Amino acid sequence: MAWWGRSALSAFRPWRPAGWRSLFTEVGDVLGEGRQVPSPGRTDMVATRLWGVRTAPCAVGLAVLNSSITGRRRPISFSASASSIFGSGGNSKKEKLFLEDIAELIQARACQRVVVMVGAGISTPSGIPDFRSPGSGLYSNLQQYGLPYPEAIFELAFFSHNPKPFFALAKELYLRSCRPNVIHYFLRLLHDKGLLLRLYTQNIDGLERVSGIPASKLVEAHGSFASATCTVCQRPSPGKDIWADVTEDRIPRCPVCTGIVKPDVVFFGEALPQRFLLHVLDFPMADLLLILGTSLEVEPFASLSEAVQRSVPRLLINRDLVGPFAWRPRSRDVVQLGDVVHGVERLAELLGWTQELQDLIQQETEKISWLLFFLAVHS
Ligand SMILES: [Zn+2]
Repeated sequence: MAWWGRSALSAFRPWRPAGWRSLFTEVGDVLGEGRQVPSPGRTDMVATRLWGVRTAPCAVGLAVLNSSITGRRRPISFSASASSIFGSGGNSKKEKLFLEDIAELIQARACQRVVVMVGAGISTPSGIPDFRSPGSGLYSNLQQYGLPYPEAIFELAFFSHNPKPFFALAKELYLRSCRPNVIHYFLRLLHDKGLLLRLYTQNIDGLERVSGIPASKLVEAHGSFASATCTVCQRPSPGKDIWADVTEDRIPRCPVCTGIVKPDVVFFGEALPQRFLLHVLDFPMADLLLILGTSLEVEPFASLSEAVQRSVPRLLINRDLVGPFAWRPRSRDVVQLGDVVHGVERLAELLGWTQELQDLIQQETEKISWLLFFLAVHS
């Protein structure tokens, strides 16, 4: 989410494991899906590349990483036109791709390991304002909390001194009862069709979960409100446990040590969740990268967009031309500029998914309405 803005560079503190072997053990633990982690014999080579991701400029590290795990790509059967797009020998590759080509690749199942990256732009249609956009509400409303500067609301030092602004903001977002929009449900459909390898989100609103995409398919890079942790004794708790206090303007306290309980949202200076390590395996495996509603200004996201193989098409659906699509475009890049909802609806139309998408939205909206009704009755 653009909440972190450029300052998230400082939020991405290199995560330092005890050693390479433990690093890959943890990647394996995070995966927990029976997928193979790099063999011990390749550990040094790949670990060096992984370390490059986190210490050297990301683009460099990831570019090297790209070439390291290519041996694990599964063979893909292309349709004739898909073959012409991907190419069979190198010089027969189609020069320029369009949105129609991406739709055809998906329909032909030439792309069935889709990695998706999303940012604040997919949540604004749900009524969640961009933290930084002037006039959007949140940014200017923060003045009432007496913050020295807006970003302080997500700084641990300020939070431990004065957690009230953060919980006031959390309450405001909670009470808005925002719901997933057509973009979230398009991604859910992608999952339902077995095409979603992983969804990397910068958003902390949890709408991807609400849309029905399972947690195993998500990497919430900046954390979420789904869980919380005591800032003193580190006792974990379900995120829902804090809301009774938050909605009554009380600071949630640990039942064991009375420390402040903080939702597992990544603050400035905090390490990213361990699940973020999945990118080491996901991006080289991807056969299509879909990027929606993000400025690609926040590292390491911006560099992740370069972590897919060069032969892999990258589709950007966004208001503006951003990141590597602007300053280091690739021949297989496809850019759909303008309103993100319209762009996604256009893609759904080209895929022939429009009716299916509408049915899914109706079905899920009814489910959420019943849930809200149930909660209202029983609260
Ligand atoms: Zn505690």
